[in-house]
Amino acid sequence: MERTADALLSALLAGNRRALARVISLVEDDAAEAPALLSALYAHTGRAHVIGITGAPGTGKSTLVNALARAYRAQGHTVGVIAVDPTSPFSGGALLGDRVRMRDLAGDPGIFIRSMATRGSLGGLARATADVISVLDAAGFARILVETVGVGQAEVDIASAAHTTVVVEAPGLGDEVQAIKAGVLEIADIFAVNKADREGADRTVLALQMMQGLAPATTGHHRAAGPPTPHARPQPGPQEDGSWLPPIQKTIALHGDGVDALREWIERHAAYLTATGGWARREATRAAAEIERILRDRLWEALLAGLPADCFAQTVAAVVRRETDPYTAATRLLTYAP
Ligand code: GDP
Repeated sequence: MERTADALLSALLAGNRRALARVISLVEDDAAEAPALLSALYAHTGRAHVIGITGAPGTGKSTLVNALARAYRAQGHTVGVIAVDPTSPFSGGALLGDRVRMRDLAGDPGIFIRSMATRGSLGGLARATADVISVLDAAGFARILVETVGVGQAEVDIASAAHTTVVVEAPGLGDEVQAIKAGVLEIADIFAVNKADREGADRTVLALQMMQGLAPATTGHHRAAGPPTPHARPQPGPQEDGSWLPPIQKTIALHGDGVDALREWIERHAAYLTATGGWARREATRAAAEIERILRDRLWEALLAGLPADCFAQTVAAVVRRETDPYTAATRLLTYAP
């Protein structure tokens, strides 16, 4: 590695914020120095607890992440925040939520906030997010909050980079539970029902409990036959069989209510993962996903580099003219693979 990159890395590891911002920019811009920097800093990663916060727009994620960051600071933990918006073309600058955020968190050296947005492809964004997580981890941030906007495959992909995933729901956004359709519920380790001050919050909690198969029986005549079954509803958290039942925590992010309880659930989940070997399994999933993303990019670039000029464009034209089909075309292009 060049001397300047070496100096940059030393400064980053020593906690220099300008070095941190510089390294993140290089990583985000896919600069030529980025791979060597990321390789060198990787040995210093593996200490942070990575927490994904996801949910539909308007559920209050930015407000909640803000409040959570403050709760962590009150405990003496340093916090890195990465706000990822797959739908926004802006990067590095201030997304809407940042203005709220910056107001009360800026100036605290124990907090670092970065927004990330589209980099051409979803895969590119997922890779950049994973890279920035590594940079913040190496820089010594103990908790890294990764906030993703929206509900869909992008969030599921980005959540695979987290140890703990919090799915945020809120009442009054049309659907009872916005994420049910999108397959995001499966990735939830913890549910936050935010805007608990709003009407309908209890219905949202109930909808989530029903989805977990835990809603209380509504029929009265069983009860008349005798006392209620004592273990009808298991406590959330670690179960006897070694599994984890996602807790449902009501919050009012705007006023901070329930936020410390949410923070405690997140900590409890980390302890559960450590005790059951789940932490190591998630680390393996993260590492596998990262290697796969890098390999995909590199193989694709190597293949393109090996193609004769215009070969790809000519193949596309041939497919459009129906002289060949996409499968045959791909097979033929693969013969140029390195
Ligand atoms: P995001 O799009 O999910 O990041 O949501 P924001 O954090 O930007 O919040 C959306 C709106 O909901 C903002 O006007 C917030 O002030 C408001 N909000 C956030 N949390 C709460 C809450 O607990 N209760 C109420 N009533 N409003 C909230």
